[in-house]
Amino acid sequence: MPHKITIIGAGPGGLMAAERLGQLGYEVHIYDHKPTPARKFLIAGLGGLNITHSEPIEKFLSRYGEAEDFIKPFITNFSPDDLRAWCLSLGEETFVGSSGRVFPKSFKASPLLRTWLKRLNDLGITLHTNHHWTGWDNDQALTFKTFPLEGGRLDGTNTIIKQADATILALGGASWPRLGSDASWTKILGDKNIDLIPFSPSNCGFAVNWSEVYKSKFAGTPLKSIELTHNGTSVRGEALITEKGIEGGGIYALSKSIRQSLEKDGEAKLSIDLKPDLMVQELSDRLSKPRGRDSQTNFIRKHTGLSPNAISLLYEFKDDQRTLAEQIKRVDIPLTAPFAIERAISSAGGINRDELDQSLMLKKLPSVFAIGEMIDWEAPTGGYLLQATFSMGASVAKGVDKYIKGSNI
Ligand SMILES: Cc1cc2nc3c(=O)[nH]c(=O)nc-3n(C[C@H](O)[C@H](O)[C@H](O)COP(=O)(O)OP(=O)(O)OC[C@H]3O[C@@H](n4cnc5c(N)ncnc54)[C@H](O)[C@@H]3O)c2cc1C
Repeated sequence: MPHKITIIGAGPGGLMAAERLGQLGYEVHIYDHKPTPARKFLIAGLGGLNITHSEPIEKFLSRYGEAEDFIKPFITNFSPDDLRAWCLSLGEETFVGSSGRVFPKSFKASPLLRTWLKRLNDLGITLHTNHHWTGWDNDQALTFKTFPLEGGRLDGTNTIIKQADATILALGGASWPRLGSDASWTKILGDKNIDLIPFSPSNCGFAVNWSEVYKSKFAGTPLKSIELTHNGTSVRGEALITEKGIEGGGIYALSKSIRQSLEKDGEAKLSIDLKPDLMVQELSDRLSKPRGRDSQTNFIRKHTGLSPNAISLLYEFKDDQRTLAEQIKRVDIPLTAPFAIERAISSAGGINRDELDQSLMLKKLPSVFAIGEMIDWEAPTGGYLLQATFSMGASVAKGVDKYIKGSNI
């Protein structure tokens, strides 16, 4: 009889672990409380599915900040090139975009997921949807509540008990909970004395106290080709003005440092260079020309090419101590709070990394492993989130295999 492995969470991490263990000949069962698997992965596909990044591996690994040493062995075991080869094996060729980011040619997750699920099915892996994991019973068996199909009544009385030789938790973080990763598991692991770092939003937008006039005119408009700086770190990119604040790729890249400033000091300042390719002197020269009958706004637009929302931003956060050219090179925007975790691309926090051994097994719960975004690590957007999750999924299978072979179960 093959050993039975239970994987809870049918996101990219759980599915990758399932594939590897299925290939090793284990009897694999995946459980998820949603009616269909990998909902967050599919939503990531709506943005083109930035699956990994092509930059040199040292640079790549540095994106994980203080979690670099933790993540490194998994990415060494299953690298960005391995991930691209794996996509190709599922019929999804990938390409490197101009920013170095890697995408499937289809720019979607759904074709890849379809073929992947078929592969898992062919390996004999069983996917049990509508199963909400609730913990362990007194005999250490896993307990689940089963649901009727979505839209029907939640039947909370229906408890299912499953024995497993090893369990992999792949339950995700706390962002976009409606897609399944609702962090309900924190109570279960907390009760088992697993140290959990509180969740906070990562790759998120931030609240700004815009004037009524500014937000009514410019909410929903982008600030393009800007340079954003926080705490000495600068990134080129763009940002989107929203009713409540500011978000978008450039902001996400700085979100960890902005969030940490807000936590520490209660305030954070974002500086935006609206014309990063022009020096102050060049801008001063252009703006010293006679204005004629142009309005101030028209004059600035004609001589700098700034968009209306960028010009209004200068009035919104006017600084009389500095020249107009200097202000174009640095508008300081006070940020008051991160946007809610429900809208963040990812989350920081989760299982303290010290709770896991090198094989990703929970030291206090032998035979139970954890992978993916439910562990405390974070990374900017750019494909780093999915790569680390896939790599942990591929790596944990080796750890489980070693554990089973070494434990004479
Ligand atoms: C809008 C958006 C866009 C994104 N775009 C990108 C991108 O382009 N590139 C990138 O690298 N990353 C992207 N990400 C992040 C990426 O999708 C996640 O990091 C990744 O899905 C995490 O995988 P995971 O397997 O750890 O968890 P998840 O994908 O969150 O899967 C966890 C699974 O566990 C299930 N589950 C949770 N609790 C229970 C329970 N108690 N019982 C049973 N099942 C449970 C959930 O239903 C879910 O299916 C994006 C995220 C969002 C929200």
